[in-house]
Amino acid sequence: MIIRFLGTHNAESKDTKLVSFLIDNVLAVDAGCLASELTFSEQEKIKAILLTHGHYDHIREIPAFAFNNTDHTTKVYATSQTFRILSSHLVDGLIYPKFTIKIPFFLEKPSLKFIELEPFDIVDILGYQILPLPVNHTVDTVGFEITSKDKKKIFYTGDTGSGLSALWEHISPDIILMDLTFPNRLENRAINSKHLCPKLLKKELRELHNVKDEFPKVVLIHLSPKDEEEIKKEVNEISKELDISIDIACEGDKIIV
Ligand SMILES: [Zn+2]
Ligand SMILES: [Zn+2]
Repeated sequence: MIIRFLGTHNAESKDTKLVSFLIDNVLAVDAGCLASELTFSEQEKIKAILLTHGHYDHIREIPAFAFNNTDHTTKVYATSQTFRILSSHLVDGLIYPKFTIKIPFFLEKPSLKFIELEPFDIVDILGYQILPLPVNHTVDTVGFEITSKDKKKIFYTGDTGSGLSALWEHISPDIILMDLTFPNRLENRAINSKHLCPKLLKKELRELHNVKDEFPKVVLIHLSPKDEEEIKKEVNEISKELDISIDIACEGDKIIV
């Protein structure tokens, strides 16, 4: 399984992009930069998109992707609340066409098909087993355990605050991709907006270690770019303290699982 990171930040600029990554070039997860960071032919290869939740930074390029790929139907998987947000704010037929229906003289067939996920119900998508699990965020959010045909597993938390320990018994990933948005200085902001800072991350990893004998490889995503240097120093300290490998994902990085 090859993970290719397109966007790994929570704020967009020339050098930082909103969260989106690809699995083996065919399965996309979140849509923060799904069109702007890919060529048209790379976009065409994507057969399905998983969305963790309905916040703008994770769904915003769904309309652009749909506009670019009108000659086939791409399946989008998310929970009902995420689809309500998408359908009422972005794919609403007002600010842009409603890509989920046929439109005379424009869409011969819908370019998007929305398929609802239920937390804890495993679905097969393109041969990957996808387990959506609820996490603690300000809107309905699911993380995904994604298992490849050769039984490699990753778990992506999506945006999450503390409280992941309830999930550890359900998953056994080789790699875990975790939200790490703020430095410790902004711990209260992290708590209020239901994200993690290094101090909160350390607690989550300790709890993980209490349940599992060994740590999976940890990769952090969704960093606040303006605080990145501060976050890196704090993450380094945790990595030494817990004696585990913690990486911070960057736009363009690839990981082979
Ligand atoms: Zn969010
Ligand atoms: Zn976010």
